[in-house]
Amino acid sequence: MPYDPETATFLIAGPVRIHPRVLRAMSTPSLNHRGEYFHGIVAEIRELLPVLFGTQGAQVVLSGSGTSGLEAVYSSLLRRGERTITVSNGNFGERTDAICRRYCEQVTTVSAPWGQPLPVERIREELARGDVRALCVVYNETSVGLRNDLAAIAPDVRKAGALFLVDGISAVAGIPCPIGEWGIDALVAGSQKGLAAPAGLAMVHLSERAVGELRPATFYLDLAEHLKSLANNDTPWTPAVPLFLALLEALRLLQEEGLATRLERTRAMALASRAAVAALGLELFPDPAHASDTVTAVRNPPGLDDARLRKVLAERYQVLLQGGQGALKGKIFRIGHMGIANWADLLVTFAGLERILAHAGRLPSPGAGLGAISAGMPSAG
Ligand code: PLP
Repeated sequence: MPYDPETATFLIAGPVRIHPRVLRAMSTPSLNHRGEYFHGIVAEIRELLPVLFGTQGAQVVLSGSGTSGLEAVYSSLLRRGERTITVSNGNFGERTDAICRRYCEQVTTVSAPWGQPLPVERIREELARGDVRALCVVYNETSVGLRNDLAAIAPDVRKAGALFLVDGISAVAGIPCPIGEWGIDALVAGSQKGLAAPAGLAMVHLSERAVGELRPATFYLDLAEHLKSLANNDTPWTPAVPLFLALLEALRLLQEEGLATRLERTRAMALASRAAVAALGLELFPDPAHASDTVTAVRNPPGLDDARLRKVLAERYQVLLQGGQGALKGKIFRIGHMGIANWADLLVTFAGLERILAHAGRLPSPGAGLGAISAGMPSAG
């Protein structure tokens, strides 16, 4: 049976599966985005954004994918001649660096090989050298399935008086983001990840300090304009109306589940996935102590072609996983288990992987992967 996107198990690292309620919310006739009804939609979105970020504060929604949120933050808060530190240990860390270099001429890049933990000591040294306007970092490095240890550097960022600007695109509503405790000045979320809304919106949380220091260098992504409009339940330019309707329904679903419950569920699925990977004799790509709870990245077993593995999974078992990016193409595959992914998704995914490994004569212990998933499921009591 060919892969059927309408019914398949869809576990790429985002976009993620969208709940039918969210899909239905978009099926409306065109709305007047300056009319009373749409202002009501925006008002409700504003009320619910703190559920997503786990805190109150200045929060905006931008029509544009996650990168629009990053560009809005860096273009508004960096200064051309003031030093910015960027941190990179994966594809999106490199992207952070590339965006920052458009808006700042004094960028210091601190990097580690893809999949390795943050070089915390080197970051501390750079911060201690002084004159740092901002530190820009990816919290959850989707490309390598790694969670960066922001708790370890947060106190140093504060001590240095630098702005702490965080790409939380595959972290928000997936792993805890203690904005206040860490002193995060800007946190960017993407609609298509932990929130399980369609791709195409970025949500940004800003600290009071960040709001006070906005000096927008772009027109469309002018965060000050967005904040001003939002105070009147409006948007400065024509918003992506159907996506706003979807966002509201996805926020309602998150509120019904509760942020803490979604984070716990995501973590439980991550722990079970990692246990199942080990039970199948496979290896995680990132340092296991820093493995992400929203994306599990697995090394392709020797002799098993990545494209073939994922094709068999898709066409024979109706499971879509994601390959590696850049230099990791063909070397890893990634399982996204965030948003509304569920245990049934993991069971069929690991059942399919077991069949593929068995066919290749590489399955150490039949049923062990499935056993690890079921052992991770909530107790029946
Ligand atoms: N940063 C991270 C950590 C991501 O995972 C992604 C997308 O996967 C991006 C940035 C880019 O976001 P978008 O493709 O929505 O612009």
